[in-house]
Amino acid sequence: MINFTVGPVQSSNAVRAIGAEQVPYFRTAEFSDLMLENEQLLKKFANATEDSKAVFMTCSGSGGMETAIMNCLTKDDKALVINGGSFGERFVELLTLHEIPFTEIKLEHGKALKLEHLAPYEGKGYTAFLLQKHETSTGVHYDINLVSDFCKRNGCFMIVDTISTFLCDPFDMAALDAGVMITGSQKALACPPGIALMILAPSALSRIEKTKCCCQYLDLKLALKNQERGQTPWTPAVGVLRQINVRLKEIDAMGGAEAEIKRTAGLASYFRNKLKEYNLPFEIISESLSNAVTPLHPTTQSAYEIFLKIKDEYGMWICPNGGDMKDTVFRVGHIGCLTEVDYDKLIDAFLDLREKKFI
Ligand SMILES: *Cc1c(COP(=O)(O)O)cnc(C)c1O
Repeated sequence: MINFTVGPVQSSNAVRAIGAEQVPYFRTAEFSDLMLENEQLLKKFANATEDSKAVFMTCSGSGGMETAIMNCLTKDDKALVINGGSFGERFVELLTLHEIPFTEIKLEHGKALKLEHLAPYEGKGYTAFLLQKHETSTGVHYDINLVSDFCKRNGCFMIVDTISTFLCDPFDMAALDAGVMITGSQKALACPPGIALMILAPSALSRIEKTKCCCQYLDLKLALKNQERGQTPWTPAVGVLRQINVRLKEIDAMGGAEAEIKRTAGLASYFRNKLKEYNLPFEIISESLSNAVTPLHPTTQSAYEIFLKIKDEYGMWICPNGGDMKDTVFRVGHIGCLTEVDYDKLIDAFLDLREKKFI
């Protein structure tokens, strides 16, 4: 199978080799060193300030989103949240569950974020802002500079879900003055799922200090205290953390975040150019694309039927959409260990389906 989804994605051979090894005992100086190296490399790739801290939570990316809300926000906050798809919707559900007062900025699927969407909330006493930098469900890459400027003007604390854009599109945590960034092990880090990686700026650290977290397992005070010595309060996904270490060093050796972003951008434009060259019956639905994924609306056949056909008859996974986008949108990812040759195979499959009048 070739995997063109948005996670889990294909891992490099070095990352896979670690997966075949025995999982070591972890309350050791060796594992602590590895964890501190993970922290340092993650901060480097996100351009976080020196006094920021990183933590590694054993949960998927959604667990990282909930952790951020439970540890950094209280009922005294007044939050703004962008909801342009299913991950924005998840933030809305979490804010509702944890009873954080908020206003939702609802965007039509596929639409870019504009200054006019933020203007009504200027000077209205908002204290926090939550958004996906890239709404993976619709493939819309938001203009985060607009949000960052709004937050600076209005004194808002910014929580950014970069889960599907980290290492795919430029992200400068210090310049944006973001309080929290969240990513996951199974997206562009191309490791198995199981770890949410978070960077906490000093503005987040002081919020965490003052906030009571009503979940022991996700309490960032405990995670931060332990990470000081490269440890975690509970048994983490040790194997995945070792794979993350190999992967971060691999990226570092290949030129860091910038080189990885360039590689991903190259694959994305290779695929998008082929779509145009062969005039395939798919429309790109996003006004503002990330390098991570191409969201497509097939004009002649159900998106889900195309997903099934490609899976069952051509041995490849493209990424189906759920909910009301099930039949109208599928996505092709550009993250993980993929090459141009893989995209040639996918394009050949699409051409074959057109030949057979399936699309
Ligand atoms: C994948 C993803 C998540 C987290 O999903 P999990 O399944 O919990 O790992 C959150 N936000 C975005 C934008 C994502 O792409």
